[in-house]
Amino acid sequence: MIHFVGAGSGAVDLITVRGAKLLNEADVIIYAGSLVNPELLNYAKKDCEIYDSAKMTLEEVLEVVKAAEEAGKTTVRLHTGDSSIYGAVREQFDELDELGFEYDVTPGVSSFCGAAATLKAEYTLPDVSQTVIITREAGRTPVPERESIEKLAAHQATMILFLSTSLTEKLQEDLLSGGYRNETPVAIVYKATWPDEKIFKCTVGSLHDTVVKSGIKNTALIIVGGCMGDEYARSKLYDPSFTTGFRKATE
Ligand code: SAH
Repeated sequence: MIHFVGAGSGAVDLITVRGAKLLNEADVIIYAGSLVNPELLNYAKKDCEIYDSAKMTLEEVLEVVKAAEEAGKTTVRLHTGDSSIYGAVREQFDELDELGFEYDVTPGVSSFCGAAATLKAEYTLPDVSQTVIITREAGRTPVPERESIEKLAAHQATMILFLSTSLTEKLQEDLLSGGYRNETPVAIVYKATWPDEKIFKCTVGSLHDTVVKSGIKNTALIIVGGCMGDEYARSKLYDPSFTTGFRKATE
């Protein structure tokens, strides 16, 4: 059996109870060493075989999984954050289906949720934006043209950029030409929920400069939109004049 487990955004105690239990029971752990907090490996049994997938190809990962399956062992494939976001899991699922191996998935706290906690932010503020766009700037990994930053920016929704810290010159240009204003607020969160996390606040107009000056190169999220600012409306949900399925309006 192979368990795909979301490690969470960084802090060791942000893995789920189920994820920690699976780590503790695993005979083999393959973890994404580039981003997963290595302290999570303290949950492993003493004799557990441990592999760092940052140094492996898909084929090499599958070789390890295959050997473990043939020996009747339990494998945990530990991915950073939640494996559904830039986790490269689909290609693994398809290969495992082909091989006839059973697997399941345990979710994790994605870094965009970790960053919201760090920032004490709400991405979906009334009258500001009710939409969160998760995307990346096109670099060595292409992004379909129909979802270019410029096109997505037209919505002026909350936009969360993964994998884009080294592409901020183009990102800033695209955000501006797409529709955000120079003054649209931006937060950059480096290593959200890790002990050495850092927050940088700026605007779209000063985004590139801020990232260059900060010296950060990766493991950061860029959050763009009015939700990083100060203006919003109160929620209807807790408004005394608004009736909900659980509460009658009192005013
Ligand atoms: N599956 C992961 C994302 C993997 S892609 C998740 O759900 O979070 C790797 C990118 O995620 C990094 O380049 C960075 O943009 C972002 N990232 C991962 N962990 C982060 C963290 N703790 N703080 C800020 N950004 C993070």
